[in-house]
Amino acid sequence: MHADVIVIGAGAAGLMAATVAAERGRRVLLLEKNRKPGAKILMSGGTRCNITQAVDVRGIVAAFGRKGKFLHSALAALSPDDLVAMIESEGVPTKIESTGKIFPASNRSVDVLQAFLAKLQRSGAELRANTGVTQFDASQERQGDVSLPRFAVRTDQQNYAASSVILTTGGQSYPGCGTTGDGYAWAKRLGHCIVPPRPALVPLTTSAAWISSLQGMTVSDVEISLLEQQSAEPTAAQISAPCESHTLEKLLDRRRGSLLFAHFGLSGPVVLDISSQYTGHPRRDALVLRCDFLPEVAAAQLDQQLRSLAAQAGSQTIISSLAEKLPKRLVATLFNQAKVPMDRRAAELRSTERTALVNAIKGTVTALAGTLGFKKAEVTAGGVDLAEVDSRTLESKLCPGLFLAGEILDLDGPIGGYNFQAAFSTGFLAGRSV
Ligand SMILES: Cc1cc2nc3c(=O)[nH]c(=O)nc-3n(C[C@H](O)[C@H](O)[C@H](O)COP(=O)(O)OP(=O)(O)OC[C@H]3O[C@@H](n4cnc5c(N)ncnc54)[C@H](O)[C@@H]3O)c2cc1C
Repeated sequence: MHADVIVIGAGAAGLMAATVAAERGRRVLLLEKNRKPGAKILMSGGTRCNITQAVDVRGIVAAFGRKGKFLHSALAALSPDDLVAMIESEGVPTKIESTGKIFPASNRSVDVLQAFLAKLQRSGAELRANTGVTQFDASQERQGDVSLPRFAVRTDQQNYAASSVILTTGGQSYPGCGTTGDGYAWAKRLGHCIVPPRPALVPLTTSAAWISSLQGMTVSDVEISLLEQQSAEPTAAQISAPCESHTLEKLLDRRRGSLLFAHFGLSGPVVLDISSQYTGHPRRDALVLRCDFLPEVAAAQLDQQLRSLAAQAGSQTIISSLAEKLPKRLVATLFNQAKVPMDRRAAELRSTERTALVNAIKGTVTALAGTLGFKKAEVTAGGVDLAEVDSRTLESKLCPGLFLAGEILDLDGPIGGYNFQAAFSTGFLAGRSV
């Protein structure tokens, strides 16, 4: 069977690419391994689907860091406003939450998927679900004086041929959704470099007992810092005091937001956002996480507040005063860390105890053991090297007729709808270019 365009993988990027190509009059076949398309759209955002972020094109580019500039053409083709307008024009109103995240007003991801399926159906593209591609090959076919690309796509059931292929097989996180990294092997066979895939937006594990003892607790505003511990060249003064430790800490990343304690370690948006720095670091065993549980109060200010409490309400226990700002179970754990008795009254707090308490609240450091891996990573970092893909069309620079869009590319963004925006915009541009 021959099509003009075969799109492999019916996630966000593939649904968009197939629709746009078919709307332009191409004969499009969209092949999906799962029984149903759009598995990740359905499960995203806690089944609410955080479609995109209420920022302009520059805001999306900036969120992807130094690789963000690759997205300029894709976002010029389909901006966050365009994406929202497209979904709304399918009868799905959206809303912006205080974090800037945009969701369907119904809070139902299925409404978003249905909008894209309706568009796909109207476009005339043919969706074949339950059709896993097992292999595909590229060759050149001579027609008169010109040679044209030709692709042979094999599936469990049938073989297909096409003049162009759009590869939208996603990454390799949440493999239970069908994303087992199949596209990387094919792209590699066609000459592409694959930046080693690694989990991103993934919970971090620790063996710290104090963390697992707090499992289930969410703290809404925590600042976490990812630090690399380095052994420093000792200064002359330190050499004369050889017992001192000469460890320096280099700040790699700092984020602020909601943190969730779990039996295995830490999760929540702030941890997921910092996790890609952790998984991408060559010396992960040298990395630690510092937590500031009261980021809006400077350490000196907190110290002063505790002194004032001693003067104004000396008979009050410190723990009851701090429990007005933080969950009581967390405060009790921090008292343990600081080795301050729980029943310590404000007036009795020693200066060494006050310092230890401020340090525990503002700078508890924990070693990291690892991550929950691809199985629980929302996104895959790494993928097809961007240098080998023309960002203006998303066509491979190495294999004419091959286009790549979505998470298969070496792009990963933070929590907040950025990853869907990149997938939809690159899918749109590939569909328009093919
Ligand atoms: C739990 C979870 C929640 C998330 N929440 C959000 C969110 O709220 N907002 C956000 O922006 N991002 C979110 N993401 C990330 C987002 O889902 C991805 O970035 C996005 O889906 C990538 O789109 P894609 O089309 O490139 O890949 P995918 O959506 O992963 O689609 C790839 C498709 O290719 C198919 N496929 C793979 N191999 C083959 C093959 N051999 N043959 C045929 N088909 C194949 C797969 O079955 C899949 O359907 C979330 C991810 C997860 C896991």
